[in-house]
Amino acid sequence: MHLSEVSTKQIKGIGDKTAAVLKKLSIESVEDLLWYAPRSYLKYPEITKINTLKEGDIVAVKGVVDPNFYEKKGGKMVVSTFSVHDDTGTLRMVFFRQSYLRSIFYPGKNFVFYGTVRTNNGKFELQMPEYYKPEDYGAKLKSLQPVYALTKGITSKAIQKYVQAVIDEIFPVSDTLDPDFIRSNDFLSLSDAYRYLHLPVDTDLLQKARRRLAFDEFLRFLTKIEESREENTSLSSDFIIRDYELCDRYAKSLPFELTNAQKNTFEEIKEDISSGFAMRRLIQGDVGSGKTMVAFLSMVAVCNAGYQSAMMAPTEVLATQHYEKLIKDNETYHLNLKPVLLTGSVTGAKKREILKGIEDGTYNAVIGTHAIFQEKVVFQNLALVITDEQHRFGVKQRDALSEKGRIPHVLVLSATPIPRTLSLTLYADLKVSVMDELPEKRIPIKSCIIGPNMRATAYKFLGEEIAKGHQAYIICPMVEENEDVSLENVTDYPKKLEAYFHGGLKYAVLHGRMKAADKERIMTAFARKEFDCLISTTVIEVGIDVPNSTLIIIENAERFGLATLHQLRGRVGRGDAQSFCVFIDGTGKGEQNERLKVLKNSTDGFFIAKEDLRLRGPGDLTGIRQSGDMNFKIGDIINDYDVLMLAKEYFENHG
Ligand code: ADP
Ligand code: MG
Repeated sequence: MHLSEVSTKQIKGIGDKTAAVLKKLSIESVEDLLWYAPRSYLKYPEITKINTLKEGDIVAVKGVVDPNFYEKKGGKMVVSTFSVHDDTGTLRMVFFRQSYLRSIFYPGKNFVFYGTVRTNNGKFELQMPEYYKPEDYGAKLKSLQPVYALTKGITSKAIQKYVQAVIDEIFPVSDTLDPDFIRSNDFLSLSDAYRYLHLPVDTDLLQKARRRLAFDEFLRFLTKIEESREENTSLSSDFIIRDYELCDRYAKSLPFELTNAQKNTFEEIKEDISSGFAMRRLIQGDVGSGKTMVAFLSMVAVCNAGYQSAMMAPTEVLATQHYEKLIKDNETYHLNLKPVLLTGSVTGAKKREILKGIEDGTYNAVIGTHAIFQEKVVFQNLALVITDEQHRFGVKQRDALSEKGRIPHVLVLSATPIPRTLSLTLYADLKVSVMDELPEKRIPIKSCIIGPNMRATAYKFLGEEIAKGHQAYIICPMVEENEDVSLENVTDYPKKLEAYFHGGLKYAVLHGRMKAADKERIMTAFARKEFDCLISTTVIEVGIDVPNSTLIIIENAERFGLATLHQLRGRVGRGDAQSFCVFIDGTGKGEQNERLKVLKNSTDGFFIAKEDLRLRGPGDLTGIRQSGDMNFKIGDIINDYDVLMLAKEYFENHG
């Protein structure tokens, strides 16, 4: 039986209750469990001297047990405390609900204690530390503890235990790769790869495990892509669009001239949608290259021919923004569209009215969120589907839409910065248009890196930009105050601004935990210039377009991935004015921060992504990249580029 058909419930130790918890993590089969890759790995620390401890540190301390063991009993609760010392000081240990400890922590005995340093009555202690014989800790030091993304009712240790049970009960699993190929590429067997992904004994084996599984994942992906390529090239379509008068007029009346890249791309689209075959096209263009414009032109052509078009965005904020723009252009340029917005916050009678209007053709230009399109939306004659900032149009979504009637044309907009050879592999089932040109008037964004001690200077500059009639973003990593007080949060941030501007700055706060309708209201108000400064978490990362914004200040920039920072910076520099990006490095390293320096010196997204990986180095397992882009669980298209190419070669020879 294939692993995907073996339910987790068949594994020892997993009952209905645990199975239900696992299901929340989308783990239903043994295969799902084995592919549930740790988010990162924890290494045990070297031994620390007691007099160098700091609150909050995760430490290992080697000490001798003092003869002061104390047990307090209250009901069933037992609290045991004692102290240990090394040659620099003493440290208290606290254990709960364990009554056999006195015989373990015998005075004079040596242990290594591992835990988080807490303060209690002004003194440091470790609560419920892990403890080891000193001679055993050496082996621990070499090992890696997987850290999984979790949900309530499960721990990383438990997941590891279930994997161990699978290994004991089911392994070895059959390996379908050519044995010669495995040998010549020094690959692990599939069984070993699973084992060392979840129970790594050292970094080297872990890397090998990831490499093997990335290979299998890429191979599977390539197989699927090939199927969908064969399907795509043979799809005929009776949505044939030949009349472009209206959209040519639209393009000519715009306040700017289309870039050559935009013009060429639109020509390619015209060719596709007039051909009698269904369009399957990807537009790949870095942030700010003007993909939306091309999408709108296509919608106008399709709607003008009497059909419907739909555009999906990943967030409500983005969908709303597109909708507002389309409405405006529709009025300004007489485009004869009947636009409608469909997002998760539209409910009840309003939603029924919209759905009915989509079904009977009252609306022809539908803009909404991806999620909405996964539900049953019935179109009268949907001829064009556009997905914005969706890195890969899911096969499932595509099928769902095709079921809705005649086969529509599909256009995918992506800002993932990858070179052409790579996109031809990953998007082999689509035709690719590259928009490698920014609108002419763009002036390159000026970036700088400062420490928090220079914040006042940044505020002064902020004031100057606002005085010029421009707007600004301030980005913080956190929503509200949290354990790590060194991180800025959007809830308390206004206090900082108030202390400097004393009411002289109009601002609003935006974050992901707000209600969709509130987010929408704030974004719309910002676009309409009702206030000057938007204080936000990274919810604004994707696609937001307010060309009047010329400054973005990013707090705790050291906490973000470079790709995220690149996207964030792309929120400015969208109009004709000089724009600025200020990275505030919370560690105070400022210009010495190697990672941030990459951003300061480059605006090439792919280069930035590669540098990010290079600077982290292959040994860094604490921040394993999860490529959300492609929904790969383990493989990373940049990090594992060579593996992807190997898989491609294998696929061509064996597939
Ligand atoms: P992205 O490719 O990142 O999605 P957008 O479509 O949001 O970029 O476009 C960025 C900004 O550039 C928008 O404000 C848009 O109106 C403007 N824009 C688009 N095309 C041009 C052009 N040819 N000349 C000048 N500005 C343009
Ligand atoms: Mg966009």
